Amino acid sequence: MKADKNRIGHHRDSDEKKIPKGGKPDRKKSADGLQDDRRKNTQKRSVERNGFRKDAQKPEAGKRQRTDGGRISGKGTAGEKICPAMKKCGGCSLLKMSYAEQLKQKEDFVRKELKGIIKPEPIIGMEDPWHYRNKVHASFARKKDGSIVSGIYEEGTHRLVPVEDCLIQDERANRIVRDLCGLFESFKIKIYNEDTGYGLVRHVLIRTGHASGEVMVVLVCVSPVFPSKRNFVDALRKLHPEVTTVVLNVNDRRTSMVLGKRDIVLYGKGHIEDQLCGCTFAVSPQSFYQVNPVQTEILYRKAIEFAGLGGTERVLDAYCGTGTIGLIAAESAREVVGVELNPDAVKNAVSNARRNNRKNIRFVQEDAGEFMQKMAAERETVDVVLMDPPRAGSDEAFLSSLVTLAPERVIYISCNPVTLARDLRYLGKHGYRVRKAVPVDMFPWTAPEHVETVALLSRKYPQ
Ligand code: SAH
Repeated sequence: MKADKNRIGHHRDSDEKKIPKGGKPDRKKSADGLQDDRRKNTQKRSVERNGFRKDAQKPEAGKRQRTDGGRISGKGTAGEKICPAMKKCGGCSLLKMSYAEQLKQKEDFVRKELKGIIKPEPIIGMEDPWHYRNKVHASFARKKDGSIVSGIYEEGTHRLVPVEDCLIQDERANRIVRDLCGLFESFKIKIYNEDTGYGLVRHVLIRTGHASGEVMVVLVCVSPVFPSKRNFVDALRKLHPEVTTVVLNVNDRRTSMVLGKRDIVLYGKGHIEDQLCGCTFAVSPQSFYQVNPVQTEILYRKAIEFAGLGGTERVLDAYCGTGTIGLIAAESAREVVGVELNPDAVKNAVSNARRNNRKNIRFVQEDAGEFMQKMAAERETVDVVLMDPPRAGSDEAFLSSLVTLAPERVIYISCNPVTLARDLRYLGKHGYRVRKAVPVDMFPWTAPEHVETVALLSRKYPQ
């Protein structure tokens, strides 16, 4: 499962889990009129597998399309008509395909990789695969006439592709970004120009709480001095009372990273809170948090269901990030230990545990493989292992120690079916049987290899 990436540009979530050198993770209008058009064009629907309809509508030429279920007919559909920025932005490479077709491709991909290991259950798709991203990066540019436009940088360039109504981003965030253009104009705030080094605002990051409704606006600027900041925040809050916190992030580095290190809170508490599976998590500008909360909850619920916890188990949450899965599991386990390499993520995990008043969970900052080797050497008991490694999968140190520890059940959450298959084969040879595997679509419209899978393994022979 992905953590998030602090990098500007496109929605390349597959990269969000990359671990760079050093072992540290590097995470990646609706104008009412338009929506009316969309509603008018809602057509035939045929139902379905897994709660999503297989087919929906044929877009009318020149009009952007969306229906409640969001299925767009794959036949003859030009993606650019649905999103004019599609080609240049490059984020949604699957816009020309129906959602049902995307799901089929992802399901086939997982099935192919897991061939000979297990036949996966049908993929769980989204009921409404639009506007799911709770994290939005916007860049800005000043046009010749002085007006300001927002959008996304064309890949590998400093050219801004105007995007007014991104189809996968949270709609509230889209509206805020649009209004920020007007506010920057009226407050005469200069947009930073990477070539000349002149200007103030580099980008804006918006994070929304799907369950909580809280909204954070992060103004990423080259300098901590933001003129008339009080009035600016008041004007923004007047237009968008849903904004619960505004942060000025100072980024004076010449890199492609979105955020600098320093945060100055201009309004509110400097972070938002959100709920997943009944637990509350803090999300600050820097912290990583899954970008598709609806599917994340489905994925976690599956993992917890597979864990089959009855209140007595000792659970290990390996590659735990900010502790989300472990905290949810802690509710129905005796004890949970989370292990994670990234120190910042561990800090967040510890405070998340406090926030939820969970006393039966602790976190260790260490390489998961080394930690497992120590556990195995000390002959510790573990009943259930939940593991959620990055795209590269797990390693032999981890897997061989896992075999020594011999937990009853292993729940493997993976964002890469290729490494999942490799690791499942290893465990299959060392005393485990794969009982179930379920793909979950986390990133509709983006690349076909963006699919999560949760697998349940249990010991072949009871000990
Ligand atoms: N379970 C979390 C995060 C999963 S992403 C969630 O759902 O949000 C994978 C995590 O593995 C990242 O947080 C990354 O920092 C961590 N990681 C990568 N390599 C690791 C290693 N060798 N040991 C421990 N953690 C590692």
